[in-house]
Amino acid sequence: MASSPDMSDPVAQNLIIERLATIRRRIAQACLKAGRAETDVSLVAVSKFHPIESVEAALKAGQRLFGENRVQEAASKFPQLRQSFPDLRLHIIGSLQTNKAFEACEIADMIESLDRPSLSDALEKGAQKAGRLPELLIQVNTGDEPQKSGVACEKADAFIETSLERFGSKIRGLMCIPPEDQNPAAHFRLLRQMSERHGLPVLSMGMSADFETAIAENATLVRLGTAIFGSRPAPHP
Ligand SMILES: *Cc1c(COP(=O)(O)O)cnc(C)c1O
Repeated sequence: MASSPDMSDPVAQNLIIERLATIRRRIAQACLKAGRAETDVSLVAVSKFHPIESVEAALKAGQRLFGENRVQEAASKFPQLRQSFPDLRLHIIGSLQTNKAFEACEIADMIESLDRPSLSDALEKGAQKAGRLPELLIQVNTGDEPQKSGVACEKADAFIETSLERFGSKIRGLMCIPPEDQNPAAHFRLLRQMSERHGLPVLSMGMSADFETAIAENATLVRLGTAIFGSRPAPHP
């Protein structure tokens, strides 16, 4: 992989601003094609492994909603940015360890990866301690892939119901990451049908390679990293 560009370089920042404009146009076109209002779809800019300067470039271009995989990394970037951008919103989108639940409650506006009862317990405790509970999405492992997080398909309906009883309207909807080697449309449709069964308004699905397909299947959040920030530098250990 080519070495990542120096983000203090204004040219690199301009590239992010240009890519964001392109993505917004493509989202608008996909909405038009699907007969949906552009305002129904929000872009989550996934800034994992990218430096704070990249986030600042996106903020300069008006982007306010960001996604991070790891709580620790999110905590190292976002609290300071919130001081200058009080309308910034942060989603935790990666699988969440129970021992990170408290910190996630402190820093996130939404956690997109609730997928098991032990995490529900940890979030309830963490929220009490933090004095706030972020909004929640339930992640469904639509491909039932053993290495992937997310609740298994056959357990999903029951888990959604108990989560609704427990967290009420804090449960906003569902999230999925389709298997890499399959046509994503079928997975997006499955998630959509599941959300309709439970009357949930938020559907987080679609990444850089397949967000237009996801919008056609009613996605309300699309999570894009590479298409905005470029290829990711190697994760820190
Ligand atoms: C990294 C990541 C993304 C963004 O992926 P790209 O292919 O870079 O757009 C979206 N969702 C989740 C859960 C991720 O971990």
